[in-house]
Amino acid sequence: MKAACWHGRQDIHVEHVEDPKILNPRDAIIRITSTAICGSDLHLYNGFIPSMKKGDIIGHEFMGEVVETGTGVSNLRKGDRVVVPFPIACGHCEPCSRELYSLCENSNPNASMGEALWGYAPCGIFGYSHLMGGYPGGQAEYARVPFADVGPLKVPEELTDEQVLFLSDIFPTGFMAAEACGIRKGDVVAVWGCGPVGQFAIKSAYMLGAAKVIAIDRFPYRLRVAAEQGGAETINYEDVSVSEALREMTAGRGPDHCIDAVGLEGHAPGLKGAYDKAKTIMMLETDRPVALREAIMNCRSGGTISVAGVYGGFIDKFPMGAIVNRALTIKSGQTHVHRYMRPLLERIRSGEIDPSFIITHRLSLDQVSEGYSTFSGKEDECLKVVMTP
Ligand SMILES: [Zn+2]
Ligand SMILES: [Zn+2]
Repeated sequence: MKAACWHGRQDIHVEHVEDPKILNPRDAIIRITSTAICGSDLHLYNGFIPSMKKGDIIGHEFMGEVVETGTGVSNLRKGDRVVVPFPIACGHCEPCSRELYSLCENSNPNASMGEALWGYAPCGIFGYSHLMGGYPGGQAEYARVPFADVGPLKVPEELTDEQVLFLSDIFPTGFMAAEACGIRKGDVVAVWGCGPVGQFAIKSAYMLGAAKVIAIDRFPYRLRVAAEQGGAETINYEDVSVSEALREMTAGRGPDHCIDAVGLEGHAPGLKGAYDKAKTIMMLETDRPVALREAIMNCRSGGTISVAGVYGGFIDKFPMGAIVNRALTIKSGQTHVHRYMRPLLERIRSGEIDPSFIITHRLSLDQVSEGYSTFSGKEDECLKVVMTP
């Protein structure tokens, strides 16, 4: 089959590889009909995620048709159309039974790597490094889906791939980030980063009762989508001071909740940005937490910082004093996608949201290199790339 393989920094291309096979009774093989490039895939593309090996098949946002099932899978049949959650979860361990699927204790065969870096290991994730289990991903013609009796969600025929594909990651991820804020009616939520997750966080914050959402970014086209599609007020941090603007928009108190939908490759103008850029280049810091710091410093006292962006390692100049002295709460986590797929599918079915609004580029899998470079370079007003094998 054809698959997008990682070969090093900014080197991802399609290759012919062996077809996946059923390895365990609870596996299913999916013929992929749609697959997307995620903002977090750009961290692989740009070489920020350790433990990648040449030839690794990447991609964790995919859906398709079931073509084969193991003997332990009774809920799926050949021909079923399913969307697959990006975390791999067994459904039965202690964290899974508490619906903390991204913390599954049975899906990461390389747990010792996670333990060395983070204390304990997270779950396995499709196409996202050996640290996350070394599973082949879904930017391919076929994928093996472990624990297929638990993960894949059957989707109704009347909805298109483009409407349901993002249940695999970014819609639940934006939603969980907003939910973690504990929004009460009338609250103001600020969202750093207007990429796909930021856009879904904006929509979700309104669904959960926010009175106002403020979107922060530097690309006018992304801010335009946040305003037009999401109904957010916007701040372009290259034009104005974020702190001053937020104070003005919140009666001098700061937003009730702040969502970091940027993660470890944050960009900042001037000295602030140069500091982290230099430190990461010298390997003195692994991540560039510019959005996170700004979210902490600008959140109202007693508010919540919800981190949806990916961080991998260690950060510098972390304003712990602000957190302690102003009673801030930090919430984070890889998304427990399984928990959100059904309720969010219902919101799509009822017409409350059509997630396809973020798609700007439709490519074939053969054009994957172009997809990555366009998305990574924010060229051609690229917000989301969907590919068909
Ligand atoms: Zn993703
Ligand atoms: Zn589990």
